[in-house]
Amino acid sequence: MQQKIAFGDSIARLGAPLAWLAVAALLIAGCRPAGDDLVTTRLFVMATVVDLSLPQSSIEQEPDLIGKIEAELRQIERDYYAWGDGELAALNLALTGFQAFEASSDLVSLLQRSQFIASVTGGAFDPSVGALVELWGFHSSEQSDAEPPEDDEIAMVLERMGSITSLVVSPINNTVSPIVDFIPGEDRPVERVFTLDLGGIAKGAAVDRIVERLEAQAVTPALINAGGDLRVIGEPAGRSWRIGIQAPREDGMLGTIELRHGEAAFTSGDYERYFEHDGDRLHHILDPRNGLPVGHTQAITVLAADGTTADAAATALFVAGPAEWRQMAEALGVDAALRVDASGQIEMTSAMRDRFRPSTQAGSDIIAAAD
Ligand code: AMP
Ligand code: MG
Repeated sequence: MQQKIAFGDSIARLGAPLAWLAVAALLIAGCRPAGDDLVTTRLFVMATVVDLSLPQSSIEQEPDLIGKIEAELRQIERDYYAWGDGELAALNLALTGFQAFEASSDLVSLLQRSQFIASVTGGAFDPSVGALVELWGFHSSEQSDAEPPEDDEIAMVLERMGSITSLVVSPINNTVSPIVDFIPGEDRPVERVFTLDLGGIAKGAAVDRIVERLEAQAVTPALINAGGDLRVIGEPAGRSWRIGIQAPREDGMLGTIELRHGEAAFTSGDYERYFEHDGDRLHHILDPRNGLPVGHTQAITVLAADGTTADAAATALFVAGPAEWRQMAEALGVDAALRVDASGQIEMTSAMRDRFRPSTQAGSDIIAAAD
């Protein structure tokens, strides 16, 4: 496979650890007929490495194609980063000041989708966690002191946190407004700080946006791989898209899955961004209900028909935990999901079991392959 490498300027922004690259190693299996050339172009954007594998002929037909995709990804990176100067940052500012905000239709639909997922998951997935993400220092690549916040700081943030479910999002005029509560007996509103953080869903939305563009131009087959979170279009002639699921605590793979046309595979893992403190791994996926990094799960991989669902569902099921994750997957319409618990044991839904081929060494750790 030919590879063209393009360096962007924004990798330093969130400073993704290189481990992100290994979330799901990609294998393209089968024999390779002549003339079927996929060219992989690497971009550093949205704090990760995005590999676009497109047919040589599509790039020749539209030499601007990669440039347009890159520009779109950079725009999404800017717009959907809560601590920058784009649209989401402006929205948070307006909401905290009790103001309505006129948003782009793309942001409005992503907020609506997020509200829906927040309500279906009982708040396990909730972009309102931004203020907590900031308190723990996971919003920035500079992990300032690698110390956990104090309990009373967490309690204070939880108390003042404005929730995505307390917003009125109107697709008719594209406005987003806070519902303002008043302090009983006083003529003043309850102050809320809105730091909506779309980090748990935006990568999926970005991948979907690129897939839409490519499909509109009949570009097929193609693979968009954003740091191991990926979606495919079509199938390479005589071959298949086979992805490997990274083992959370060691080099190597738990096993492989073959993806079908249009499918997305996204993983949320506690190894993607973390620091260690007193022997605990304190990582970037937080339970919005108690403000703490989730301790019962190492990784969740989800297959879905689109990237937005797969991304948000992986984050939600990560938070859900042993008793709830299967039920929550069902409520989200997700059939195929795999969970690695805190002790490294693997369980999966029956739809995932039908698709997953364990690597030999992981086979012995799979304890609950059936529903
Ligand atoms: P992912 O890797 O897709 O699971 O996304 C993790 C990112 O989503 C974190 O870095 C945070 O920015 C954000 N996040 C953390 N916890 C949650 C949560 N419970 N719900 C929604 N987003 C979250
Ligand atoms: Mg996610």
